[in-house]
Amino acid sequence: MKENCVYRYTCKQDCNHCSGYFPDAITSKLEFAYRDNRVRNPGWKKQWWYLVYFVLSAQATVEATEQATADVFEKYPRPIDLANADWKELEPMLAKVRFKHQKALRLIGCANVFLENNKQLPRTMEELKKYPGVGDKVAGCILNWAFNLPEAGVDVHVLRVSKRLGLVPERASAKKATTILKDIFKDETHIVSTGLFWLGYYGTCTARGCNKATCPLRKICGGYDG
Ligand code: SF4
Repeated sequence: MKENCVYRYTCKQDCNHCSGYFPDAITSKLEFAYRDNRVRNPGWKKQWWYLVYFVLSAQATVEATEQATADVFEKYPRPIDLANADWKELEPMLAKVRFKHQKALRLIGCANVFLENNKQLPRTMEELKKYPGVGDKVAGCILNWAFNLPEAGVDVHVLRVSKRLGLVPERASAKKATTILKDIFKDETHIVSTGLFWLGYYGTCTARGCNKATCPLRKICGGYDG
């Protein structure tokens, strides 16, 4: 049984007592814990916000991305404002998210494509990747977060918690983790992916350690030794 078990990478127990139960348990506990955080049927404003946020998030911390996103929306509240922006004025606002020059040009390009498409994002990876700065990870995050489509948006939080739970190998890359999470959770991947993000974001499962008392997965976590 162990070769098919979702916890095969970290579990130190004998087999046959758990396999098959945990994927459903993880999904239902995360869905319940973060049920109020789910975005349903986002209008163009929310779609636009996600596009800007995730384009800025590439290789940046959550804190830096949130600050830069807030700064951009304060100065350029509408897509048309950003489409007409001067990259030299936009670039300094992106200093903390790295690759500020490329990201300034990408945001302006995204604004133009977004307007050309009547302020509606497509709902497929292929179409989303036509936007400047949108690769597999950003497209997956947008489908995952904005449209509740079963993609895995694997950022640092999702990757760390996946490893701690034993869902993916300790040395797995974000790309490898994306494949494994989709393979395990299939049509419910977005529930788990966003749930694992909130575990990290809210300080429950962080790089510093495990805050077991507040964790909805504390009774089933395969990676917790306490
Ligand atoms: S029990 Fe601890 S290690 Fe496991 S997911 Fe929760 S916070 Fe992370």
